[in-house]
Amino acid sequence: MSVLVVVEHDRGALAPASLEALTAARSLGGEVHALTLGAAADASAAVLAAHGAAVVHQVHHDLLADYGPEAWGESVAQAVRALQPDAVVACGTDRGNEVLAQAAARLDLPFVANCTEIGAGDTWTITRVRWGGSLLEQCTLTAATKLVTVAHHSVEASESPTAGAVQPLAVDLDPSLARTVVCERVERAAGVTLGTAPLVVGGGRGVGSAEAFAPLEELATELGGVVGCSRAVTNNGWRNHTDQVGQTGTRIAPDLYIACGISGAIQHWVGAMASKKILAINTDREANMVTKADYAVIGDLHKVVPAITAEIRRRRGG
Ligand SMILES: Cc1cc2nc3c(=O)[nH]c(=O)nc-3n(C[C@H](O)[C@H](O)[C@H](O)COP(=O)(O)OP(=O)(O)OC[C@H]3O[C@@H](n4cnc5c(N)ncnc54)[C@H](O)[C@@H]3O)c2cc1C
Repeated sequence: MSVLVVVEHDRGALAPASLEALTAARSLGGEVHALTLGAAADASAAVLAAHGAAVVHQVHHDLLADYGPEAWGESVAQAVRALQPDAVVACGTDRGNEVLAQAAARLDLPFVANCTEIGAGDTWTITRVRWGGSLLEQCTLTAATKLVTVAHHSVEASESPTAGAVQPLAVDLDPSLARTVVCERVERAAGVTLGTAPLVVGGGRGVGSAEAFAPLEELATELGGVVGCSRAVTNNGWRNHTDQVGQTGTRIAPDLYIACGISGAIQHWVGAMASKKILAINTDREANMVTKADYAVIGDLHKVVPAITAEIRRRRGG
């Protein structure tokens, strides 16, 4: 069996999610190749080889200078026709799912998104995440070439070094494929981001106001993390949507999520459930977040959060 992994990057900055896809691809058995689109991604070849890509196919084309779903999808379709892999794997990020959907439509193949478990045989048996993570669905996939994405954060990336031969791959792209191309982007603020932070302090409606987030900011800063929030908070205009955790926000996977005054509605939970440990601070011991958390403090967050920060500082001698 041969598996082709579509690598995600932004102007050459490799998406860590692609290393999860490579790790998942290795577990299917058979030889794993990687496909990078655009010259900017060439520099990632060594990292891809370290994560098990026996061959890195590099596609260069003017239309691939920046991300565009149509040009990327058509490039993947042409790569599949040229290389004839048994399976194509990408990470189930927005871009990964968009590109494979584009490729699947062009190849007239089925596509299974956001898989958490894959049993590879002639027919694949798959568990996949549906409805924003609130449902796990089991399905089978029988297509000759199997197109799947792996649910983000469902696999921990690991290395498996190979020599990683680099091979150019030519594609023929019509200028009409440039209809949708990223031309501007908001520069990410310096420091850790919500999606990659090792620690997130989340605040919900229980925080009460925009100003009342200050103690949560202090705790996050003390622990080298960032502040997130629920949709009740963004709906109230207390924080920007970029801070929202959940189905319609960011999916987080920190080592510790400290959820303060958040009830744990399913739409919030699906964005938080990949956290390795959760500490809930809530006045309601029956709140969903409390019953699902690894640790809970039942109490008023306005007292508990400053007390935690003060204790950390005391122990650090600050
Ligand atoms: C289509 C759709 C998409 C959605 N997407 C998202 C999403 O991406 N993210 C998201 O978060 N929500 C999302 N929601 C909204 C979601 O359903 C909930 O309404 C929302 O998560 C509730 O936010 P909350 O937990 O902050 O507020 P509440 O549910 O009101 O909970 C507040 C909690 O604070 C506790 N509390 C109150 N005062 C204190 C205090 N002083 N100290 C400690 N605890 C206190 C309460 O006991 C309660 O548990 C979505 C909804 C829909 C319909």
